[in-house]
Amino acid sequence: LAHEELARHSGPGSTKDGHPVKLLLNVGGAAVPSADAEGVGLFRTEFLFLDRTEAPSVDEQRSAYGKVFAEFGGRPVVIRTLDAGADKPVPFANDDSEPNPALGVRGYRIGARKPALLEAQLEAIALAARDHDAQVQVMAPMIATPAEAAEFARVARAQGISRVGVMIEIPAAAILAGAILAEVDFVSIGTNDLSQYTFAADRMLGELGPLLDPWQPALLHLVSGIAAAGTRAGKPVGICGEAASDPGLAPIFAGMGVTSLSMSAPAVPAVRAALRGHTLAECQALAAEALQRS
Ligand code: PEP
Ligand code: MG
Repeated sequence: LAHEELARHSGPGSTKDGHPVKLLLNVGGAAVPSADAEGVGLFRTEFLFLDRTEAPSVDEQRSAYGKVFAEFGGRPVVIRTLDAGADKPVPFANDDSEPNPALGVRGYRIGARKPALLEAQLEAIALAARDHDAQVQVMAPMIATPAEAAEFARVARAQGISRVGVMIEIPAAAILAGAILAEVDFVSIGTNDLSQYTFAADRMLGELGPLLDPWQPALLHLVSGIAAAGTRAGKPVGICGEAASDPGLAPIFAGMGVTSLSMSAPAVPAVRAALRGHTLAECQALAAEALQRS
């Protein structure tokens, strides 16, 4: 029985009736977990840049990215370009005199102002992918407009990376998700920052936890709108914020049309089991109910 139970809780993510929702991992550090997941949905690259006086060389980055590709074999890996700023300050990239770092020059905004930094990272990613014959995808953090998404896609494709996406974690990007999806191959929703900016509630302040709760209907409405834009465009919409590891929300996200959930390795089995507990029609009914709550 124990063996059967385990077997039931392995393999690709799907609803009870076989509708696929990919189960991916969030990775960020030198140690790469090998878990029963379908790939990496968010590789946070900040750890390579923290506590430095200058950016790591292309060669150093190439070998760090190569480790993830080697560990995940033929499975897809989404690497996020540097998300420096606010809760992830990088001394040489951020201006520590900004009065509101969460609203400052952070994430993609740095890459747009320091193109050599972004291009070197993309070059290292492309080289590492070639070294390992890997299925690489890149995405930019903190994209606010379709024009930013288009510019990031242009720079990434110029480095030979063919699958390019962006994170949707700013409400402006959620509102124009359809126009953003027209510029890129996929989007991934960062619910941690999307909550912070939607509720004007600092994600670092535990006291504001109830506003930052991913079950807040206003957040779910934004996620639902992004997922619907993805369904219309025929392009993947993933979630890589903490909300993706909530087994109660997994069927609701599936019902909205979210195509992948990316989380830390320990969260995968419960999310997989939760998805398998419902048919797609049941997931859609749960999503409709969650969206009606106030
Ligand atoms: C997010 O904002 O939800 C996210 C996944 O990115 P980070 O937590 O690294 O800002
Ligand atoms: Mg974020």
